[in-house]
Amino acid sequence: MPQIQGLIVAPGLGLGPVHVVRARLDSAPVWSLRADETGAEIERLDAAIDQVFEVLGRRQKEVAKAVGERDAGILGVHQMILRDPGARADVDRAIRDERLNAEAAVDRLIHTLEETMGRLDGDSIRGYAADVTEPWRAVVKALMQTDQESFAQSEDKVVIAAAELTPEAVTFLGRERIHAIVTEAGGRFSHGAVLARSFGIPCVVGIPNLLARLEQNMQVLVDGDHGTIVLDPDEATIAAFMTRCDQRSTRTSALSSHAGKPAVTPDGTKLDVLVNLESVRDLDTFDVSHCDGVGLLRTEFLYMERTVFPSEEEQFRLYRRVVDSMQGRPVTIRTLDIGGDKQLPYFKTPKEANPALGWRGTRVTLEWQDLLRVQLRAVMRATAHGPVRLLIPMISSLDEVHSVFKIFDETRLQLTEQGYDVAPDIPVGIMIEVPSTLWILDDLLAEVDFISVGTNDLVQYLLAVDRDNVFVSGLYEPMHPAVIRALAEIGRAAKRAGKSVCVCGEIAGDEAVAVLLAGMGYDSLSVAPNFLAVLKFAIRAIPLAEAQGIVEHVLRLRSATEIKASLEGIRKRLGEAILAHEAG
Ligand code: PEP
Ligand code: MG
Repeated sequence: MPQIQGLIVAPGLGLGPVHVVRARLDSAPVWSLRADETGAEIERLDAAIDQVFEVLGRRQKEVAKAVGERDAGILGVHQMILRDPGARADVDRAIRDERLNAEAAVDRLIHTLEETMGRLDGDSIRGYAADVTEPWRAVVKALMQTDQESFAQSEDKVVIAAAELTPEAVTFLGRERIHAIVTEAGGRFSHGAVLARSFGIPCVVGIPNLLARLEQNMQVLVDGDHGTIVLDPDEATIAAFMTRCDQRSTRTSALSSHAGKPAVTPDGTKLDVLVNLESVRDLDTFDVSHCDGVGLLRTEFLYMERTVFPSEEEQFRLYRRVVDSMQGRPVTIRTLDIGGDKQLPYFKTPKEANPALGWRGTRVTLEWQDLLRVQLRAVMRATAHGPVRLLIPMISSLDEVHSVFKIFDETRLQLTEQGYDVAPDIPVGIMIEVPSTLWILDDLLAEVDFISVGTNDLVQYLLAVDRDNVFVSGLYEPMHPAVIRALAEIGRAAKRAGKSVCVCGEIAGDEAVAVLLAGMGYDSLSVAPNFLAVLKFAIRAIPLAEAQGIVEHVLRLRSATEIKASLEGIRKRLGEAILAHEAG
């Protein structure tokens, strides 16, 4: 009953029978059968073969009628292929002896046939290979279709397992029928991941060879908060999990009364608690009166469900929708941050050996300036409808900031000349996520209106650990003393310059880290909507003076273990206070 570590994509807890789905149309799902399921699986295979056989017979008659018996003959050959006892014995053996599901067993036969034929010479033989495998492909398709259809009609609530976190895997069933999703591949910023988060489905990805370890209907426990899963958990693990679920819901209901309160420390300092948005769907998942605005609109994801890049008009409508929904609260729109682990289906960046160190964010938009100009026009037009701030990602030098400013000024001039309304003051900020910026911070701060720390990237670049590589994810340590000291220095530098400083990376959603950041002088935190309530509770619970004392202490610590132990103390204290508040 091993616990397997994957990557966190969407928080939450889920437990239930697993259902393996095909993630792509061209791949057969693989899972293991229990010994007592092999008979039924062979029957399922029989039914699929009969179904394809019947279709072939029907088509043969139609073709014979339309173009003659000779051309229809090939379909008769396809029928014979399906009745080949040797091939069938191989498939049955894989199901019975290796306990492979029928789709995977037939898929393996197809590969064997292709390999055998591929070794023989001559075009006609290779053409024959296609003929031999085609009816078996139809069987795989029939198996998958009937399986998916009959499953979709049932009412079971399941944990979905798939090879990849595709949008199909996320939307294959209604939200109410999904406990959680687990996949072998897929980063935190795939389209499927964005969907899973906005639907609130707990989700863990990046578990190599997962499907081969699963049996259909096996119980799987998913902890989206920690990125772990347990296969076939024993009773004690299930009982502990249930207790956690209860605690989680008690905590959520206890916290709900805090979401609407302002984030003011007991000694009177107000912080802005903002939201990170990835899709317009996110707007429906929380009450806007619970936040002080949008701290990060990841515009790249607004454009995912499309086939071409959106026009200025379409972008303007999207931004305006966000601005209108925020009812006067500021909206921070980040310019496109594609490349690396964020890809749009219609804007393919080249294959790079080190994508995280490659062509991404502002490096792309400064080269493909049309993208930036169109986006800036749309953003600037949205400023006429409410407070908008512009945020530039992946900045590594002052020159890049100047280049963006130049395009910004030209765009503003062009718009005003064309008679558009543009706000006279549009605050422009940069993301602090590349370590080089730490050494030129004062220069950068002198030129921008605010900074926002992207700790997701800053941590990976400071520690040289790819944030999406499951093999090194154990080394991805946001509480590394280097990270903590860098964060403190950024807070100090912003204060010196009198500029607003925010953290919009995921660590800001951790209530103990939020207290630390408040103590470091951060005036705003931007988090996924589900963290708003806990953050406000934490800020309202601990006086700023005390948070500053915690920072002093933590800055003296020399290892992540010590820092985490120290923060665990705060987390525990806050946890108890939340429950005590509920009881009181
Ligand atoms: C970050 O790097 O912390 C950040 C907020 O940007 P993203 O996660 O979108 O790269
Ligand atoms: Mg980033």
